Amino acid sequence: FLETDGLIKNFGELRALDNVSIQVDRKEIVLLIGPNGSGKSTLINVITGFLPPDEGKVFFEKEDVTGKDPSELYKRGMVRTFQTPQPLPEMTVLENIMIGITSKGEEPLTALFYKKWLKQEEEILEKALDIINFLKLSHLTFKKAGELSGGQMKLVALGRALMTNPKLIVLDEPIAGVAPGLSHEIFSKILELREQDVTFLIVEHRLDIVLKYIDRLYIMFNGKVIAEGKGEKEIKEVLNDPKIIEIYIGD
Ligand code: ATP
Ligand code: MG
Repeated sequence: FLETDGLIKNFGELRALDNVSIQVDRKEIVLLIGPNGSGKSTLINVITGFLPPDEGKVFFEKEDVTGKDPSELYKRGMVRTFQTPQPLPEMTVLENIMIGITSKGEEPLTALFYKKWLKQEEEILEKALDIINFLKLSHLTFKKAGELSGGQMKLVALGRALMTNPKLIVLDEPIAGVAPGLSHEIFSKILELREQDVTFLIVEHRLDIVLKYIDRLYIMFNGKVIAEGKGEKEIKEVLNDPKIIEIYIGD
């Protein structure tokens, strides 16, 4: 479904991605972990078209999408959220979701973009309200986004992503700084979406919370994938590997 093949990304002397090959099957929830600076966000940026790789390829639904820009990828069904959510603070939750995802993390794509896509403004409104309902944000529909808690902002970011009818959602730290109760709620929404045929690639440090939800795990260190596991048993084995534990304690 999604595959990267030998991705390399250098920032000057620093090799942020060093021959990274990962695979995400359809309807999987795949978790990417690794210490700070190991290359997780860079990998997401390359996959979602926010950064071109120096070498290697990205395949989405068997097509080579390497270097395609984010808006081309939204149309194909790949969308992402950012490590720091960037809602427009003066606009309501509803407006923020109607506007949809932001390009490059700041410049909002206008409703026009969606107008073309979804044809009617009414359809946009209806879809945004459906998403708000699905995310149980109805009580916040007309609240300014700038007044939300961090966890609520993360939900709004997920809502924006859902506006694009995605097949693959890439989440950068969806529950960092979010209380455990709301974190589990966010993941229960992720599970529901998976039942509707959405696939997830997730970067998240909060293993304690996410472990029970994931199908596959990749561990990065210094730009490399150093371990992977698929299925509960293999994932547990990987996480109990003394070499892996040392990397985390050494961090
Ligand atoms: P964190 O857990 O802190 O979010 P990460 O695993 O997401 O870390 P990246 O943000 O991918 O790590 O960074 C990987 C390395 O690349 C780091 O050493 C970082 O300083 C460097 N880096 C990332 N983006 C750039 C950039 N635009 N220019 C220069 N160096 C960068
Ligand atoms: Mg990061």
